Amino acid sequence: MKTISLIVPCHNEEQTINIYYDTTTAVFEQLNEQNVETYVPEFIFINDGSTDTTLDVLRKLQADHPETVHYISFSRNFGKEAAFSAGFDNASGDMVAVMDVDLQDPPELLLQMVPIVESGEYECVGSVQTTRKQNPIRAFLSSSFYKLINKMSDVEMKQNVRDYRLMSRKYVDAVLELPEYNRFTKGIFAWVGFETKYLEYEGVERSAGTSSWSIFELFEYSLEAVVDFSDVPLKMATIMGVIISFLSIIGLLFVVIRALAFGDAVSGWASTVSIILFLSGIQLFCLGIVGKYIGKIYLETKHRPAYVVEEKR
Ligand code: UDP
Ligand code: MG
Repeated sequence: MKTISLIVPCHNEEQTINIYYDTTTAVFEQLNEQNVETYVPEFIFINDGSTDTTLDVLRKLQADHPETVHYISFSRNFGKEAAFSAGFDNASGDMVAVMDVDLQDPPELLLQMVPIVESGEYECVGSVQTTRKQNPIRAFLSSSFYKLINKMSDVEMKQNVRDYRLMSRKYVDAVLELPEYNRFTKGIFAWVGFETKYLEYEGVERSAGTSSWSIFELFEYSLEAVVDFSDVPLKMATIMGVIISFLSIIGLLFVVIRALAFGDAVSGWASTVSIILFLSGIQLFCLGIVGKYIGKIYLETKHRPAYVVEEKR
């Protein structure tokens, strides 16, 4: 008998949890029909500061299935990354999967994933969504983001890879070794290495409820990703500084020589002001980049926990 932990973050998901539970339980029955080994699910739902009745739904589900269902309820919304963290910290399974509760990560895929991890060939099986009906602006932003992050960072992150994946114990232990507070899970998965097999599947709409990410939040998320996994912005700031200083010296020489040769009529005031404004802009920009990293260091040195648990069962 082997246990498969399922880490499932829930933020205002009262409508989807029971559908998810029923579907996944059915998938496990099918899984056990298809394999000699018996697999038991260990559901770990994380209530990430929901403001609807998610917690009540989880309490009830847990009371009905005390053997297989567990939940961790945060004291407030800490974000999906923190929810993953809590899940990893509490997962006891021989294999661990992370997945969304809205069935956009089809539980049926586990039927293919489990034998692959079981065979020992791969420590991790991930998932790539082929056609996700997305609004074109989001799609464009997303593809530009992946191009950018892959140029800027040492680890490769594939586009359209969902967080949905099944991992061996070995892989999970590696993930647990990373103690950082600022967690960009996709990057962490890429960072731990191990060969990962990606299964493709067609994207589906949410089973119910609404997505809780706004475009602004996605932008924030991308920024985190860049700063957590790359120091290229810092290098860019330095290079930009060097180039601009060099150009200013040339400009200065030009001005001085011109003044000596032709005398100084008070002209060029406008250009001076524009140069000053331009340089101040660049300086502020670079300060902003540096500040972002210092902010990260600041948070990291505080050694704050990634989440606070209010209730756990
Ligand atoms: N989620 C979470 N905390 C948040 C936002 C989302 O735990 O602050 C969960 C949500 O309940 C869902 C998963 O993360 O299970 C993915 O969210 P969603 O379906 O809204 O995102 P999308 O599928 O559109 O990327
Ligand atoms: Mg979703």
